[in-house]
Amino acid sequence: MTNKINITLSTTRKEKPNPSSLEFGRVFTDHMFVMDYSETKGWYDPRIVPYEPISLYPSTMVFHYGQTVFEGLKAYRTKEDKIFLFRPDKNFQRLNLSNDRLCIPHIDEEFAAEALKQLISIEKDWIPSAPGTSLYIRPFIIPTEYYLGVAPSKYYRFMIILSPVGSYYKEGIKPVKIYVEDNYVRAVKGGTGTAKTGANYAASLKAQENAEKNGYSQVLWLDGLEKKYIEEVGSMNIFFKINGEVVTPALNGSILEGVTRNSIIHLLKHWDIPVSEKRISMEEVYQAYKDGFLEEAFGTGTAAVISPIGEFFYNDEKMVLNNGETGELSKKLYDTLTGIQTGKHEDLFNW
Ligand code: PMP
Repeated sequence: MTNKINITLSTTRKEKPNPSSLEFGRVFTDHMFVMDYSETKGWYDPRIVPYEPISLYPSTMVFHYGQTVFEGLKAYRTKEDKIFLFRPDKNFQRLNLSNDRLCIPHIDEEFAAEALKQLISIEKDWIPSAPGTSLYIRPFIIPTEYYLGVAPSKYYRFMIILSPVGSYYKEGIKPVKIYVEDNYVRAVKGGTGTAKTGANYAASLKAQENAEKNGYSQVLWLDGLEKKYIEEVGSMNIFFKINGEVVTPALNGSILEGVTRNSIIHLLKHWDIPVSEKRISMEEVYQAYKDGFLEEAFGTGTAAVISPIGEFFYNDEKMVLNNGETGELSKKLYDTLTGIQTGKHEDLFNW
């Protein structure tokens, strides 16, 4: 593959949205990155082109069996007007892990990061500067062979699109209410839970819809076999602070390894706060709550960074944490991580 990225600039420019009214994932920038794959050429024709519809036959494999992978990361504008990406190498590594699981050929991670930087430098005016705002980056790969057989596609398209996003917490960091899901499951061992692939998100919609109907913002996912052990919360990883120790479910073959999760573990170790990755059941968490040892719970992910949990609905009972307020550790982690992401805090780990 030649590494030269062909650039075709758009002849028009869209109006930039007002960051205070931005909804997640609705507005896209003027350009996108595209690259194709065939068995004979490998990944070829990397290009930056105007953001526009793509034309595919109805028989294109992407419309049928879900052989897709994606990523999600953000670019931030610092006070000094520099543009920061947060650990993009981790996202392209994870994209290749997802590729492995979905029988999609690997991409060159360094080249993908370079392509992203070129795209961002063309679109830098789209990165908002108001506190909490950022440019959401969505790399993804779709199968493009015209074929209805159930088999790995012989052709693929890799694309990166960009979307300015407003602040996740318009009125400051705020706890959410979580429904502990005891019927539906997100993923099972041996399934696709460790990959960022569309099917996992399709499978999650029904439980999410039910939770919302009952006044809860997300579900807590339990393991797919016994529905006993804690896995994730919505599309975030989860942490608990129990009697001074921070605990997160160990990576077990059905949990997606979040970049935020990894960063939180680094930070806690750096602060000498005890943190362990282990199997933890909902019953243990409930017991800790009853005994007065459950100090905090929070989800972690690129979108919210830290999402404190103020209440769990479990076995017909409401478990209210911290009077529904944000815990101290959640707040400190949120401030530190968003501080590193936006250049306000020293970046000790070169993230
Ligand atoms: N779990 C799932 C299922 C997710 O979709 C995400 C979001 N990518 C996460 C966890 C958190 O990952 P990250 O911290 O890399 O955003």
